[in-house]
Amino acid sequence: MSWDTTRSTSSAGARIGAHEARQRLEHERNSRLAQLRALKDTEGAGQEADDLLNAQRGAVRRALKDIEAAFARLEDGTYGLCHACGRPIPAERLEILPYASACVPCRQRAG
Ligand SMILES: [Zn+2]
Repeated sequence: MSWDTTRSTSSAGARIGAHEARQRLEHERNSRLAQLRALKDTEGAGQEADDLLNAQRGAVRRALKDIEAAFARLEDGTYGLCHACGRPIPAERLEILPYASACVPCRQRAG
């Protein structure tokens, strides 16, 4: 909450503000939690469907973990920086994936 966001309102927006980032992360978290609830409602549709559900649930849980980690990075001021190379993650990427923790080249290198 110590970020100075008043200054950057007129900038070209290379980096998104902490306030905006937080709102996006909260939105992502809410929609993931809703997804988890929806997946629960479709339980018991047979073994094959359950396997698929488990895979989907795992993916949603991983996303939620990433979102929590992104919240932590907002707190310590490293949000928007690649955890691998330390360079800023492009704003376009954060727009698509607000909880991205690595830039595209590093992500691809990691597989
Ligand atoms: Zn990187």
